[in-house]
Amino acid sequence: MARYTDASCRLCRREGEKLFLKGERCYTNKCSVSRRGYAPGQHGQGRKKLSEYGIQLREKQKARRYYGVLEGQFRKYFEMAVSKKGVTGDNLLQLLELRLDNVVYRLGLATSRPEARQLVRHGHFTVNGKKVNIPSYLTKLGDAIAVVEKSKSSPKIKAIADITSGKAVPKWLELDAENLTSKIVALPSREDVDLPLKENLIVELYSK
Ligand code: SF4
Repeated sequence: MARYTDASCRLCRREGEKLFLKGERCYTNKCSVSRRGYAPGQHGQGRKKLSEYGIQLREKQKARRYYGVLEGQFRKYFEMAVSKKGVTGDNLLQLLELRLDNVVYRLGLATSRPEARQLVRHGHFTVNGKKVNIPSYLTKLGDAIAVVEKSKSSPKIKAIADITSGKAVPKWLELDAENLTSKIVALPSREDVDLPLKENLIVELYSK
C-alpha cells in the first residue's frame, strides 16, 4: 500500500506541533519543531490566518499524520465511526487507537508509530497466537498481542524495550513486560487518547 515517504519532520513543521514520529530524537534538541517552528517550504514563514475550513482541514491532517493513515483509509474509519453507536468523534479515535501498529506503540514495544508500523510489517507480532503483519489490523477487546517467540531475543526488540521501560501503558492495555505479551482489557475511551486533537472539527469537515 502507498504511504508517505518524505521526511517525517516536515509533517510536524507543517502542523506546527510535535507529532512524535521519530522516537527518541523527538525528545532532544535535534527536533525540527524546536529548531524551526514554522511550516516548511518557500512560504512557510508567511502563512495567513486560517479560514474555518482551513482549521478543520489541519485538524484532520494532524490526526492522519499522528496515526500514519492515508486519506482514503482515514475516510473509511470516519464512515465506520458514523455507523457505530455513540459519539462519532469518540468512535473515530477509538478505531484509530485499535490499529495494531498503534497498540504496539502504546505498549511501548516501539518508540514511535512509524517504527511500530515497520515492526508489524516485518512480522514481529502475533494476535491471538497468529502472526499478523498488517499495521492497520483492527484489534478488539480481549485480543492477546505478543512478540513472536523468535523475535523476543532480537537485539532490536531488546533495545526498544530498554528505551521504553518505565513508559506508562494505558489502562485499556495490560502488558507482561517480561514475556512480551499483552491483552486488550478494555476499549479505549476519549480520556485514554492523550493527543491534542479536536475530533469535533474532523467530524464537521467530513459532514459538509
Ligand atoms: Fe516531529 Fe520528532 Fe521530527 Fe520533532 S524530531 S519534528 S517531533 S518527527
